[in-house]
Amino acid sequence: MDRLKLVLLGPPGVGKGTQAALLSEKFGIPKIATGDILRNEIAGDSPLGKIARQTIGQGKLVSDDIVIEIIKDRLKNKDCERGFILDGFPRTVVQADALSHITDIDSVVSMDVDHPEIIHRLEGRRTCSRCQKMCHLEFHPPKKEGMCDDCGGALFQRKDDHRETIEKRLLEYDRMTKPLLKYYEDRKKLFPVNGMGSMQEVFSKILSVLGFSG
Ligand code: AMP
Repeated sequence: MDRLKLVLLGPPGVGKGTQAALLSEKFGIPKIATGDILRNEIAGDSPLGKIARQTIGQGKLVSDDIVIEIIKDRLKNKDCERGFILDGFPRTVVQADALSHITDIDSVVSMDVDHPEIIHRLEGRRTCSRCQKMCHLEFHPPKKEGMCDDCGGALFQRKDDHRETIEKRLLEYDRMTKPLLKYYEDRKKLFPVNGMGSMQEVFSKILSVLGFSG
């Protein structure tokens, strides 16, 4: 593979982050997640973080201008020369149009699972306050309650993983992000994948739709 510029599309909790990490490792290209970048800004209490904290906590989308600027900057990095995997960007048609002016995307993999399953996945998700690694109380429980398996940091439930906020995020997805399915379908870039199944099963499906063998 010479170069791969990939977008992962799908509702929150569908497993984009997990698959982006697997793809990043397989192809040796960076996974770029606007959600992670924004959470870092929040952790650092930067001016941008202060704006993002409130919006994210309400399950709403951060403004297009902000995330477009973040991506424009990030894609200039040398580590993107052989491509990248975008996780959580674009999330609106405005962002997709802006992206098309920044660079040419090769393919968009859209993942889907039904909403009750998403709520189940997100509600049980816990994040490490130190290394940000995620686990799931039911599917991948921590060895020691409340403690990250990797670094021993305290686990917490992200505010946007509370039931009420999850439902708002799903509404935002349907309203703002779902139109991107047609947007990329019209441009012959869309590769839909069913997000149900194990991490490895979904990974194999993604590789297969992209024409790579597992
Ligand atoms: P994520 O970790 O991708 O679910 O992102 C967490 C939150 O960050 C989202 O619910 C949004 O509030 C915000 N966010 C992340 N990416 C974007 C984006 N591309 N556009 C707008 N808001 C975003």
